[in-house]
Amino acid sequence: MSHRPNRLYLSSDALVANWRALARLSGAAACGAAVKADGYGLGAREVVPRLLDAGCRDLFVATWAEAAAIADLVVGRDATIAVLHGLREADLPLADLPGVRPVLSTAAQIARWRLVAPGQPCDVMVDTGMNRLGIGKAEVAGGLLDGLAIDTLLSHLACADEPGHALNETQRARFAALAGRTAATRMSLANSAGIALGAGYHFDLTRPGLALYGGVPVTGLAGAICPVATIAAEVLQCRTVRAGETVGYNATWRAERDVAVAVVNLGYADGYRRALSSRGCAFAGDTPLPVIGRVSMDLLALDASAAAVREGDWVRFDDDLVHVAAASGVSQYELLTGLADRFERMWS
Ligand SMILES: *Cc1c(COP(=O)(O)O)cnc(C)c1O
Repeated sequence: MSHRPNRLYLSSDALVANWRALARLSGAAACGAAVKADGYGLGAREVVPRLLDAGCRDLFVATWAEAAAIADLVVGRDATIAVLHGLREADLPLADLPGVRPVLSTAAQIARWRLVAPGQPCDVMVDTGMNRLGIGKAEVAGGLLDGLAIDTLLSHLACADEPGHALNETQRARFAALAGRTAATRMSLANSAGIALGAGYHFDLTRPGLALYGGVPVTGLAGAICPVATIAAEVLQCRTVRAGETVGYNATWRAERDVAVAVVNLGYADGYRRALSSRGCAFAGDTPLPVIGRVSMDLLALDASAAAVREGDWVRFDDDLVHVAAASGVSQYELLTGLADRFERMWS
């Protein structure tokens, strides 16, 4: 029996269904997966084998440490892990990890790769308007990439979750203009939201992250994506709070009538955001149990008037990331990546 206080129920079926839906929406392009930040908080070592079994061959992490943590899982699977932060000086001891290659984004990184892995395949990031990582088109024209064995040329969209934003088409056109200008065998532009922008954004490979894990960055993906992760917590104490009394730190919530309250072992140290104070929601079966008062570090209180909840019962929390992001003002990305290590992660 686990001694972990609370649980994250994770659905293999939902994860795989989301990847398949995104692969279908990617049309002729292959569909990869961003598994950085420990698979957006769900656990990369659990996520990766499921995606590989589903047919995913292109994985993206942020750092070499993240690559090293999953590199054994791709051995013999004809899959690669691309490191989005490129190749820093400090990464050199890891640079020969089998199945792993950098996404180079500066002249210094490119020089480093030529030195330590001459002729070995790499990916390259070009900046088309986000002004985050990547080389510019002038550097491409100037020959910076000449002789490099580039598998995939990447760029990243700044505003894919705003389908009407003019920068989307600007970036798409700038990226498309690089076709045939490098030795790259593939081109890749779209993240989750970028997939929904349409076929012109798909190129040869898409790189969804958020939507794999149940996030819905644009309404265009709403019907295609289902929740993967559901928080569950245990009722530690039930009490009746009398009319006029308050609940929790700073007494921010006051009972208008006698209320049955359930206190559960979940708080902001678990990643259940304090911004959900008096705004979040749990469920006993289908019955909503609103969060009342401040979310504490390790505890929160629920209005359990509508359900017969008892000490030792488990309740599930709202797993619709669009709802929870709207209620908290915290992005779906932060909600997922903030899920703490404390949960027992239970895959079905
Ligand atoms: C994180 C990331 C992705 C995935 O983005 P989502 O919005 O989570 O789908 C794709 N490409 C790059 C370069 C990224 O940094």
